[in-house]
Amino acid sequence: MSKTYQAIVIGAGPAGSSAALTMARAGLDVALVERGSFPGEKNMFGGVLHRLPSLEEIFPDFWQRAPLERHIVKKGVTFMTADSSFNTTIEAGNFDRPPFNGYTIFRPRFDRWLAQEAVKAGATLITRATVDELVHKNGKLAGVTVQGRDGELLAPVVIAADGVLSFIARKAGLRQPTFNPAQMAVGVKALLDMPREMIDDRFGLVREQGFANEFVGCTDGVRGGGFLYTNYDSLSIGLVFHLASLRTSGKTPYDLLNAFMEQPQVAKMICGGKLQEYSAHLIPEGGYDMIPELVGDGILVAGDAAAFCNATGLNLEGINLASHSGVLAGKAVVEAHRNRDFSKQGLSHYKKLLEESYVIKDLKLYRKAPHMLHNDRIYNEYPELMCSFMEYIYRIDGAPKENLSRLFLKSAREKVGLGNLMADGLAPGEHYEYRRNF
Ligand SMILES: Cc1cc2nc3c(=O)[nH]c(=O)nc-3n(C[C@H](O)[C@H](O)[C@H](O)COP(=O)(O)OP(=O)(O)OC[C@H]3O[C@@H](n4cnc5c(N)ncnc54)[C@H](O)[C@@H]3O)c2cc1C
Repeated sequence: MSKTYQAIVIGAGPAGSSAALTMARAGLDVALVERGSFPGEKNMFGGVLHRLPSLEEIFPDFWQRAPLERHIVKKGVTFMTADSSFNTTIEAGNFDRPPFNGYTIFRPRFDRWLAQEAVKAGATLITRATVDELVHKNGKLAGVTVQGRDGELLAPVVIAADGVLSFIARKAGLRQPTFNPAQMAVGVKALLDMPREMIDDRFGLVREQGFANEFVGCTDGVRGGGFLYTNYDSLSIGLVFHLASLRTSGKTPYDLLNAFMEQPQVAKMICGGKLQEYSAHLIPEGGYDMIPELVGDGILVAGDAAAFCNATGLNLEGINLASHSGVLAGKAVVEAHRNRDFSKQGLSHYKKLLEESYVIKDLKLYRKAPHMLHNDRIYNEYPELMCSFMEYIYRIDGAPKENLSRLFLKSAREKVGLGNLMADGLAPGEHYEYRRNF
């Protein structure tokens, strides 16, 4: 039997549930369709939820209400070589005050909570339901079919929030049928149980404070980086690799992750942790140049499906962009209902809202970051340079001291080459052939 709604959202991740919540609160009859047995069942990520101002607007007590682990007060970056490391950390008082700057979370808990908030606002959540086709009637998009179920779910407008591979956006002709591996990354993560007091003592934390650290130079020459985040009583540790580079290397993500966890500097941090699980997932890392068509007749695309992920090398922002784009997609659908116009033109308000928001502004600002991250020197030579320079500074062995800038140039010449240093500094990301194929 078919059922009719005013809007259908495909995927109950952060983008989909934020869209459904926004529309349901505005009084629309919304179906939120999720293939898992509950929202978040199979969803994984590194672990840091950056602030969500659009949800804080809806829930001023967001930080007390949502299922969060620790709030991040300390952020660090570690440059590593085989036998040394150089670390910088910022610990900010502002990060330690509500509404806080970011939190660690677990997706099964967070995604489920957000979807339930959409349900409380009036949305209908349909789980164990994989959308497989778009339905057209009289030349217009009219709804979707669900794998293995009779009948159709009908609505004049659909939001594709089905994640990085978004078969729905591809079926609607808004994304290319194939992916460019140079624009994709794969992340692997291990969850290690560790007593709460041990985490507090080891990382210098009190109350619900948390620590997030990124690592460069830990991927055995594959383009990528590492992360370690503290939850209440566990650690999330993992690596993210550029897909094309990983493929060329012939190495496997789990071997690289195990080697990372065995590096002496890292082994000390996770010692005493008990391995609970491994997981892996794709990440759209192409940035602004990867954004597909965002609107078609009767359809909008949000979150990872729209490549809204900002990977700058120091931060990976995905959930905040997904959630915010979901809210904006929801607002555009409310507007389209007001005007009774679900054409591409009628839904294009979404693009305007996005252009005005931090989602597109940030992706535009960091447009060159994905190109820059295709520079192999970042993963080998620069960590070597940082570590050897710092080692020179702190080594006291009776030899006369050298002028610091001369010392830096000497290390740079040895480790990177002065020509490369100048080229990378003057025009980061300019030297790498990067084809836009969306
Ligand atoms: C290793 C790793 C580390 C990361 N670290 C961070 C981090 O620290 N901070 C951060 O902000 N971001 C991080 N990200 C990125 C972040 O996870 C994503 O940007 C975010 O999850 C995107 O949300 P979304 O709702 O668009 O998609 P998703 O979270 O992928 O949700 C899509 C939903 O759609 C459902 N679905 C898919 N197809 C269908 C279908 N046909 N029918 C019905 N349902 C369907 C899925 O089951 C899923 O629930 C990381 C990602 C990875 C892989």
